[in-house]
Amino acid sequence: MNKVESAISLLRSKSIRPSIARIKILEYLSHTTEHPTVEMIHTSLLPAIPTLSKATVYKTVGLLVEAGLARLLYGEDCEAHYDADISDHGHFQCTRCGKIYDFAVNLALLETEGLERFAVTERNVFFRGACPRCLSE
Ligand SMILES: [Zn+2]
Ligand SMILES: [Zn+2]
Repeated sequence: MNKVESAISLLRSKSIRPSIARIKILEYLSHTTEHPTVEMIHTSLLPAIPTLSKATVYKTVGLLVEAGLARLLYGEDCEAHYDADISDHGHFQCTRCGKIYDFAVNLALLETEGLERFAVTERNVFFRGACPRCLSE
């Protein structure tokens, strides 16, 4: 299955009509580890889809998050970042360069107390600090 076909079938599996913008945005998110903001997604896709508005990007990423095809995380900058990797993993944001890194985390081993009567729908592990690249500067 090529990139476009897999984006289309993912959208269809969630009963989302696969418009060009939705396909391109999901495809872009699936192939980046940058955890882009709406601004970044818009800037990157504009050459390919000159008619793409920022409002459409906002609406589309909201739709993808709601459908469980992407996740939303708030960075140090208080900006919304999007990630199409919905598997369990932690995030580390560098407070110097702002880059968000993925890291492996075993959420099954995470011990919690006091949540017995709560229905948990999302678990985030978020670390911040300085990345190796910034530390070596
Ligand atoms: Zn850094
Ligand atoms: Zn991630």
